[in-house]
Amino acid sequence: MTAETRLVSRLALLVGVAGGLAVLAAWAGSSSTPVVGRQAAWGAVGVAGTFGVTAASFLWVATGRQAVARRTAELRGLILAGVAQARSGAGPADHTGEAAGSGAGADPAGADLVATATMVHYHRAGCRLAAGKPVEPAGRADHEQAGRTPCGVCLEGTSPGPRDEP
Ligand SMILES: [Zn+2]
Repeated sequence: MTAETRLVSRLALLVGVAGGLAVLAAWAGSSSTPVVGRQAAWGAVGVAGTFGVTAASFLWVATGRQAVARRTAELRGLILAGVAQARSGAGPADHTGEAAGSGAGADPAGADLVATATMVHYHRAGCRLAAGKPVEPAGRADHEQAGRTPCGVCLEGTSPGPRDEP
């Protein structure tokens, strides 16, 4: 929150409190004024107070919107900086996200392939069919030696390996 925003929000608080007090004063004053014709002055005070409360509400919303816009721009800058850093720097550290996709660029012999001991198919680490299961990573050859075949969802179109099925 900048100094300007803080000033505006304090001004809004002041205007809002003053407006609320004016409305209360108008209510108390007009209810203790027995002559109807003289209640009009209190009515004017009440209208002014209502304007004050309304103006304060607008100021609060406006400063809130400014704060959100500033924070959004700040976060967008951070995100863009992070994306640029990720593109230029680290390579293999975050490959699980790619493995969850179509997987065209995945290493066919990589240790990214997972399965449990009782599974019929082996999967990429990010496959939703393996999600939440106590899978162990292993090489493709190990999986095929255990009699497993590639998952039709996450490994569709990849070669089953150098050896054919027995
Ligand atoms: Zn799978």
